[in-house]
Amino acid sequence: MILTEAHTFTFGLIGYPLGHSYSPVLQQAALDSVHLPGNYYLYEIEPSSFDAKIQILLNEIRSGSRQGLNVTIPYKEKIIPYMDCLTPAAQDIGAVNTIYIENEFLVGHNTDAPGLLTDLGQKGLLDPPGVALIIGAGGAARGAAYALLTSGWQVTLAARRLQPAQQIQADLSRMSSSTSIQIETLASEALQPRLPDFHLVINATPVGMAPQTEASPWPHHLPFPPHAALYDMIYNPAVTRLMVNAKASGCQRVYNGLGMLIQQAALAFECWTGQKPLIPTMQDQILSYLDTAKS
Ligand code: NAP
Repeated sequence: MILTEAHTFTFGLIGYPLGHSYSPVLQQAALDSVHLPGNYYLYEIEPSSFDAKIQILLNEIRSGSRQGLNVTIPYKEKIIPYMDCLTPAAQDIGAVNTIYIENEFLVGHNTDAPGLLTDLGQKGLLDPPGVALIIGAGGAARGAAYALLTSGWQVTLAARRLQPAQQIQADLSRMSSSTSIQIETLASEALQPRLPDFHLVINATPVGMAPQTEASPWPHHLPFPPHAALYDMIYNPAVTRLMVNAKASGCQRVYNGLGMLIQQAALAFECWTGQKPLIPTMQDQILSYLDTAKS
């Protein structure tokens, strides 16, 4: 349901814990950019009260008193049974990060995957399709693998534990018989012979994120392939240890995950309001927020 300008939009984020969220800044910037009145709230819901509290919030979406919600860790999978339907992206990834209402149905959607694709595309990293190495096997790795596979890429997942990677491989292989997804241990010996294959490396682990900014998920003594592009999903700090090391190895195309963060927020905003927010406004406001937070 899209409201008229006379109404105030109400959205928010559910998760636990929520201390570090940048979503209120991004969504306020999105509202400002298209001159819509509204508020974005954080709902830190303890797991023991999840069922009762989520029912209240979802009823408010059904009644029209709020337009939608974002969902983050640890509820991206847990929320699925509460939805009336899922978009194909949410269904295939098995995770919901955006809830909105359409024709009186509560829809569970996932904007992380299209957000990543949009940002990769804008950075010229998406075409032509090649072979991507995704480090990690959590929710972000799953979304990235889905996004790249649906864009014609071959994907290798490198994880310290193989079982979650194998689960992603099994789930995403069901999408199509031509899906190409391989698994390697996140270790020098396993990755060394494969390095010439990779066109794009994506860090989908939290390793290197503030405050542990000296850490890197890349195996020790393994040279970073200089011909590959690096996309580190981390956005705080803006330049991670992995990015520094990749540049030092001669890698020219090195990016953090801020673009993805902005794009997934913009896509959620569009689901709730029917309007495309101005990305440069969102970018400016989050950068100035991060600058202020640093000082
Ligand atoms: P998650 O579900 O907890 O998964 C984290 C993954 O990282 C797991 O596979 C975990 O392996 C692995 N990992 C953790 N510590 C490791 C280490 N020391 N060495 C090797 N692997 C390690 O988290 P997520 O939701 O996927 O998020 C991952 C990162 O992506 C976070 O930093 C998040 O902020 C970022 N992210 C960014 C965006 C964006 O918009 N830019 C969007 C989504 C996520 P184990 O299972 O073995 O622990």
